[in-house]
Amino acid sequence: MSRPIVIVGAGVIGLDVALLLAERGYGRHIEIVAEHLPGDTSINYTSPWAGANFSAISGGDPNALRWDKIGYQHMMRLAEDRGTEACISKTPSFEYWDEMPASGKIDSMAEYLQDFKILPKADLPEGCQFGVSFTTITVNAPRYIQYLYQLLKVTYGVKFVQKRLADIESAFRDPSTKIVFNCTGNGARTLKGVEDEKCYPTRGQILLTRAPHIAKNVMRHGKDYETYIIPRPRSNGNIILGGFMQKGVGTGDTFASESESILKRTTGLLPELLQGDMEVLAAFSGLRPSREGGARVQRTSIKLDGGKEGVLVHNYGAGGTGFQAGLGMASEAVGTVEDLVSSLPREKSRL
Ligand SMILES: Cc1cc2nc3c(=O)[nH]c(=O)nc-3n(C[C@H](O)[C@H](O)[C@H](O)COP(=O)(O)OP(=O)(O)OC[C@H]3O[C@@H](n4cnc5c(N)ncnc54)[C@H](O)[C@@H]3O)c2cc1C
Repeated sequence: MSRPIVIVGAGVIGLDVALLLAERGYGRHIEIVAEHLPGDTSINYTSPWAGANFSAISGGDPNALRWDKIGYQHMMRLAEDRGTEACISKTPSFEYWDEMPASGKIDSMAEYLQDFKILPKADLPEGCQFGVSFTTITVNAPRYIQYLYQLLKVTYGVKFVQKRLADIESAFRDPSTKIVFNCTGNGARTLKGVEDEKCYPTRGQILLTRAPHIAKNVMRHGKDYETYIIPRPRSNGNIILGGFMQKGVGTGDTFASESESILKRTTGLLPELLQGDMEVLAAFSGLRPSREGGARVQRTSIKLDGGKEGVLVHNYGAGGTGFQAGLGMASEAVGTVEDLVSSLPREKSRL
């Protein structure tokens, strides 16, 4: 059977594109080709290592603000309709800043975040200038991508092929391919035919910790650090403690000194951590697929062997926001090829 839509990459960004298309009845037209699939672990596969939550960690440029808003609205709906299976949850959140954040960012968040409040100065931790509370989304990242994988494969008939591509052109190997989505994350820097030099990794280290008494999300944004506590839905009381944002660092090693720093900062920010049984289970590191100027969501064309033009939609460079902004990026990536997508026959939704 021909598969006119090919998605390269099975991280949250590629899976989100597939989800939006499958929900519209195009699942059986999609093939996802990826070196790593949900369930795999590798330092070259970022999605399983994410915290993950929705937060103000993202940029303040118009793209980031828009993708966050669309992403939040989609994720809230997903949490309401299918939160248990998808391992995502609505969670009370408190975010603090050491320095005043840009007003455009806060105004944008205030517009759409549920239960948004600016906190009185007296309620802020020592040294913080500003703080907000709202209802956020927390995600069990490794289980969420496995949920999407099963949903796409079993319910929507998406085909998955595990394979590393040497170049982007080979995604067009089948003559019936009409559109290729490039969702290769950090791979976009080296994948032949893309080779985007603006891409770079931003390393993070996190601690998977058991602390069943913690039910809220807490973040502190410093000048050169990020400290966060993220409850992990459907994990039997685990939380994620973080973290680090090391621009240009590409090692997958973990360091005891960084684990100590995370423990010191998170227990300082949320002393309740120490008021119950808390056990550090493991340290992990992951590489956020960052890009100078922000993520690239763009329709382009590529000259194929034989002179034909292929339609190539880039969708990569989500940095530290692939889970919160991924569905926003996906809806715009799909929007760039609406003319081609809407000419394909659709199946009725199966959900
Ligand atoms: C410690 C940490 C904490 C984070 N916390 C959060 C958070 O709280 N909230 C949030 O929104 N985000 C968070 N993130 C960021 C988030 O994890 C990323 O933005 C997201 O995972 C990026 O997804 P991706 O699909 O672009 O990349 P990936 O998950 O890396 O997927 C890339 C895919 O492309 C495939 N691929 C690449 N090259 C090729 C090739 N040549 N041929 C075939 N396949 C190829 C790979 O095999 C893989 O399937 C965090 C990240 C880290 C590291």
